[in-house]
Amino acid sequence: MIFLNKLLIATNNQKKLKELSAILVDLGFECVTLKDMNIECDPEETGTTFAENSYIKAKCGMELSKLPCIADDSGLMVDALGGAPGIYSARYCEGTDADRTAFLLKNMENVADENRTARFVSAITCVFPNGDTVAAEGACEGVITREVMGDGGFGYDPVFLVPAHKATFAEIPQAVKNEISHRANALKIFKKKMELYLSEGGLK
Ligand code: IMP
Repeated sequence: MIFLNKLLIATNNQKKLKELSAILVDLGFECVTLKDMNIECDPEETGTTFAENSYIKAKCGMELSKLPCIADDSGLMVDALGGAPGIYSARYCEGTDADRTAFLLKNMENVADENRTARFVSAITCVFPNGDTVAAEGACEGVITREVMGDGGFGYDPVFLVPAHKATFAEIPQAVKNEISHRANALKIFKKKMELYLSEGGLK
């Protein structure tokens, strides 16, 4: 039997790494990081979808480490902006997370409350050394606030309000975010697909 539960997580974002490994460790995986392996993996994200970009990153990590490698690509899709910033979330404008959040609020100045719906999307792909892939996508629905609220999390968290919690991702405790986030939802689907893949004899 191949002992499969050692996985490389290909991200340099410490907060994402924390979220991903908390969930993956919970599922029984042993996670190693790019830093643990002394690997630099930062391929150009040339895909046109979250799924394509997560595949590009996971393939790069697998080729460099020879381990099954998981990568996620994620972002914020705002309905009133036609799905923007989408795959360009990390590059929406120059500067810091706070600059991008301010830019988003500015672009939505004239958007009425009822039209401020948005969702975070996460695509997760695992690429195996034999070329097989297991992939999943998850989302978390919310509303864009009119001002920054809370100082936890990262990225667009302070302007992403989850109606059921009456709080933004930056105000919700990390453990709660780990249960309801787009990444958590993608990982739940990912886990089921991984179990199916293995039960069908994947990676012989
Ligand atoms: P990626 O690292 O290429 O997946 O880029 C994702 C970008 O989307 C990040 O830089 C953030 O701006 C945004 N993003 C993704 N997930 C989250 C989240 O959980 N909270 C806040 N922003 C996020």
